[in-house]
Amino acid sequence: MEISDNKTILKIKSLADSGNVSGNSTEEIFASCYNAVKKTLHITPFDEQLSASIALNKGRMVQMQTGEGKTLCAVFAACAHALNGGFVHVLTFNDYLANRDYKWMKPVYDEMGVSVGVITEKTPPAERKSAYLKQVVYSTAKETCFDYLRDFVELETEKMCFPKFDFAIFDEADSILIDEARIPLVIAGDVAVKDDGTVKEVYGKIADFNENDFEIDEETKNVYLTDNGADKAEEVFGAGSIYSAKNAGLLAKICACLKAREVLKEDKDYIVKDGKIVLVDEFTGRTAPGRVFPGELQSAAEAKHGLTITSRGRIIGSIPLQYFARLYPKIAGMTGTAESAREEFEKFYGILTETVPTRLPCVRIDNPLELYFDNDEKQKAVIEAIKTAYKAERPVLVGTQSIEESEKTAEILRSEGIPCVVLNAKNDEEEAGIIANAGNRGAVTISTNMAGRGVDIKLGGEDGKNRDFVVNVGGLLVISTAMRESERITLQLRGRAGRQGDVGESRCFAALDDEIMVKNGLQKLCGRHYPSEKTSGALTDKTLLKEAGRIQRISEGDAFDEREKLMKYTMIVEKHRKITFERRYSLLDGTYQSDIWKKNAFELYEKAVEKFGEVPLKKLENTVLAALLNEFHSDYLDYTTYLREGIHLTQIAGRNPAEEYAIACEEYYENAVRSIPERMAEKLEDILKCDRLEDYTIEKPSRIYTYLLNDIAEEFKVKPILLNVFSDEDKEEIVKETAEEKKPVSDNGNKTGFFKKLFGKK
Ligand code: ADP
Ligand code: MG
Repeated sequence: MEISDNKTILKIKSLADSGNVSGNSTEEIFASCYNAVKKTLHITPFDEQLSASIALNKGRMVQMQTGEGKTLCAVFAACAHALNGGFVHVLTFNDYLANRDYKWMKPVYDEMGVSVGVITEKTPPAERKSAYLKQVVYSTAKETCFDYLRDFVELETEKMCFPKFDFAIFDEADSILIDEARIPLVIAGDVAVKDDGTVKEVYGKIADFNENDFEIDEETKNVYLTDNGADKAEEVFGAGSIYSAKNAGLLAKICACLKAREVLKEDKDYIVKDGKIVLVDEFTGRTAPGRVFPGELQSAAEAKHGLTITSRGRIIGSIPLQYFARLYPKIAGMTGTAESAREEFEKFYGILTETVPTRLPCVRIDNPLELYFDNDEKQKAVIEAIKTAYKAERPVLVGTQSIEESEKTAEILRSEGIPCVVLNAKNDEEEAGIIANAGNRGAVTISTNMAGRGVDIKLGGEDGKNRDFVVNVGGLLVISTAMRESERITLQLRGRAGRQGDVGESRCFAALDDEIMVKNGLQKLCGRHYPSEKTSGALTDKTLLKEAGRIQRISEGDAFDEREKLMKYTMIVEKHRKITFERRYSLLDGTYQSDIWKKNAFELYEKAVEKFGEVPLKKLENTVLAALLNEFHSDYLDYTTYLREGIHLTQIAGRNPAEEYAIACEEYYENAVRSIPERMAEKLEDILKCDRLEDYTIEKPSRIYTYLLNDIAEEFKVKPILLNVFSDEDKEEIVKETAEEKKPVSDNGNKTGFFKKLFGKK
C-alpha cells in the first residue's frame, strides 16, 4: 500500500527545511511541528506519521499498526487545530497513557507555543477548570465525560468546568468508541428520600409465593410470574388484572421483591453496612458505596433486611460514551485495528476510516486457527506451546478471555515450574512496566485483553539488551487462547508481535465447546463434519476449520446488530438528556429568562416582587427552575430504568420494543414538562415563607460520586411492556422524530416541541 498524501508530505518537509514557516496554513503548522519534534524529541517524523497526522486533521479514523508512533501523530493534528483558534481533547483509555503521552509530547507543544494540560482521575477538582482552559488537554474519555456530567449538579456556571465541545482525538479509538461505547457513565448523589413503605408492604404480602408462582430467567436473573403466580397476585392485592397498564408499577414491585428474595445474595451481590445496602462490584469484588440497584430493586433489598432509609444515592445524570463522543463537532481517532470496524465508525460516528501502511513490511507469521475437541484438549495444547517457547527462552504473551482464565493458566504453568506474570488491568502503571518487558528473553506474560494496551513491547526487553537473542529464537510469540468475539480483537492481540518490522509469530487456539462456538451453532453449521466423539490433538477436517473461522464473523454481525438495536433504545433518552442539559445551562448563564411565575402564578409573583424585589427574584427563578430540571431528570432516569426492568414483565408479540420504549419515555417526559408550572408555583410559596431571599436554600446532594454502569444490553433482549396511552398517529410522529435524531449531532439544536411550547422560542 502506498501513502496517499505524498505531495502534501513533500511540501511539508520542504517547508520545514526552508525554515520559513511563520504562516498559519495547515501545511506551515505541520512543517514547524516537524521541526519542533526534531528539536525537542530528537527524532524525525516518518512520512507515514505525517500521512496519519493529515488524516487525523481531516477528522478521520486512522488505522496505523501498533508501535508505528501514533502518539506523535496526534500532536500535529492537535497543533493545527489549536493554532487556528480551536480546543483539542486527546482522549485515551487509561490514566497511565494520558499522563505518559502528555509528559512525552509536552516539549513539542511548548516549542510550538501551544498550551497543554492533563487531567486524570487524581486531578483535584480545583485544578480541572484551569486544565480545561489549555488549548490541548490529554485525558481519558471517561474522565472528561464525568466532568461533563458533574457540571450538571452545579447551579452556578462559574463552578462548571467542562469547556465547550470542539475537537476530540481518540487514541486506541476502537476500544473507546466500540468496545466500551455502550457502557453508561453515571453520576449519582445522596439525596433525602421519603420511604412510603409500599415496597415493604409488597414484600410482606409475597411471603408465601413459591417456585410454582415464579420463574427465574437464568441469563438475565430477572424474575417472572407464572400463570399461577399472576392469579395469586391478583388475589392477594385485589387490584384486578396484574398485567393491566395501571398495575405496571405493582407488578414491577412484586418482581423486584421476588428477585431481592430469591436472586440477590448478601455478601456476594451486596453487604449490609450501617443500616444500608452497599453494592459489591462484580468485576473488582470491591464494595461500591453510593451505587444502587436499579428501579424498585433497591427498595426491595432494603425491605428484605427491614431497613428504613432516609437518604439514598440517586442517579443524577448518565450518558454512554458513544453519545458523549458524538457531542464533539469534530472527532478523529487512531488505532491499530480500525479497518474491520469501518462500517460501524461511519454509521455511528459519521467518520471515515483511512489506513496508513506500515513503515517496514510486517514479517510476523500469523498461524491459522488451531481447533481442538474440547477445552481440556485445548488447554493441553496451549500449555505445550508455552512450554516449548519457554524452553527456547523465547518470550510469550498469552492473551486470555478473563481474569479467571489468566489465573488458572498461571497456576498450571507454575506447577510445571514455569515462572510467569499475570496482568489483569488492575494497576495500569505497574502493568505498563511489566508489559514493556514482555519481549525479553524467557519472559512469560499472561494477560487479558485490555491489560497493557498502548504500551510498546520491544524485543529483548525495554532496553533492548537481549534483542539479538530474541530475534534469533523468532521474536515474540503471541498466543490467543480462544476465538474472540470479533476479528478486530484477535488482530489487536496478534499485532502485539511483529512491531516495526520485527520478527514475531501469533497462534490462535479454539475448542468446539468454546462459548462462541456453541452460542453460534457451530455443530449445526458443520453437519456430518462435526466429530461425534472425543479426539485428541488438533482437528484437521477442512470444513470444520472453515466453519469455525466463520463463527467469528457471525458473532461480529450479531454484536453489531445488538449495538445498533441498543442505540435505538437509548436515542430517545439521549435526546431528552440533551434538551434538559441545554435548557438548564441557558437558565443558569442567563441567556434565557424564565417567566413561569409571572405567567402561571401571578398573585404569588406580585407578592414576591413586593417583598424581595423583581431583579433578585427573577434571578432566583432561573436557578430554581434549573434545579427543578435536575430533579425531573433524575425522576426521568428512574422511570427509564423502571421501564427497562418492567419491559420484560409483559411480553407482547408483534410490537417493536424500541418504538414502545421511545413512546413510553416520550409520554413521561411530556407529562413532566407539563407539570413544571405547578411545581414552580409550589416552590414560590415556599420562598414567600422566607424573610429574606437568601434564606431560601435549594437542596443539593450531600455527596456525589461517579461510576460506570455495567452493560445494559442484556436488559433489552426482551420485549417491552405496552403502555397504551398514545394514539397510533402520535406513535408514528414520535417514532419519526426519534429516527431523525440518528444523525451525528452536536450539542446545540433543540429539536423537540415540548420545551418550546413551555418556554417559547429561544
Ligand atoms: P503506537 O501508539 O503507534 O503503538 P507509540 O506512539 O507508542 O506507538 O510509539 C512507539 C515507539 O516508536 C516509541 O518508542 C517511540 O519513541 C517510537 N517512535 C515514534 N516515532 C518515531 C520516529 N519518528 N522515529 C523514531 N522512533 C519513533
Ligand atoms: Mg499508542
